[in-house]
Amino acid sequence: MSAIIIDGKQVAAGIREQLKHEVAGFVAETGIQPGLATVLVGGDPASEVYVANKRRSATAAGLADLHVHLDGAASSDEIAQTIRELGENPAVSGILLQLPLPGGMDSGPLIDLIEPFKDVDGLTTTSAGLLARGKPGLRPCTPSGVVALLDSAEVPLEGAEVTIIGRSELVGAPLAQLLIQRNATVTVAHSRTRDLASVTRRSDIVIAAAGVPRLIGEAHVRPGAAVIDVGIHRTPQGLVGDVDFESVSRVAGWITPVPGGVGPMTIAMLLRNTLLAARLQHG
Ligand code: NAP
Repeated sequence: MSAIIIDGKQVAAGIREQLKHEVAGFVAETGIQPGLATVLVGGDPASEVYVANKRRSATAAGLADLHVHLDGAASSDEIAQTIRELGENPAVSGILLQLPLPGGMDSGPLIDLIEPFKDVDGLTTTSAGLLARGKPGLRPCTPSGVVALLDSAEVPLEGAEVTIIGRSELVGAPLAQLLIQRNATVTVAHSRTRDLASVTRRSDIVIAAAGVPRLIGEAHVRPGAAVIDVGIHRTPQGLVGDVDFESVSRVAGWITPVPGGVGPMTIAMLLRNTLLAARLQHG
């Protein structure tokens, strides 16, 4: 068996194209151009690349690029002041604080300064609470992207057995909530899970978000299962994920590649959230 490859690049391009029209419609209707404020602190090369991609995609979708670059030596108070100012600025629909912050600075209190209706990364405590309660709000981008990818491939979620490997606030935990709301039966595995393979092998869908290169191999996957790889690792051989693509694609029914799987969806969901945030603010 050879798995169907779920092409995240293609799905994300379709969403971005659709969003372009929706943004143009919003501008025509309200006279307001939604704006995305990306906040980058310092000069971490990987973060610079991520932010540049987000800004480029935002501009291409017709959003205003309201980027702020703070010096790597900026204090927590200075970052907080920037976030408050962006919160008060009506031109700013969405605020994204690029993580990680330099010097291991605690990002939690700063993220919680983002107004929930401008929280396009969906990471504030308020957004997490709204998600947990199943109330409307801005959802985290990577988990939303995973669900959108599964939907694009028409992988059934209702009643499906899903194992998510990873329970982080960024990926695993919110993804579990999203899938429960889609009536999947969700197991969340983590570093203390005993016998991971026995858990994943009984699943219709396996989502790897552990941050461990090639953790998931052929022996972890039931034939025909859908395997979504959230992991990204730079290696001398190029980018790899948490899934051993070559062996797993022989047994899985669907699989996402790295690169070109979940990654492009994260940005597409960020753009979608920015338009949604503008709608929340301007009716
Ligand atoms: P994280 O905060 O480090 O969380 C990793 C999770 O995986 C933890 O819950 C951890 O368990 C669990 N884990 C670690 N080793 C494990 C093992 N051997 N077996 C089972 N579970 C294990 O990472 P994250 O922020 O969620 O990110 C996960 C991966 O996704 C990373 O590779 C990251 O680069 C990637 N990522 C990609 C995108 C994208 O756009 N494609 C976006 C975000 C993140 P404990 O809780 O017990 O420690």
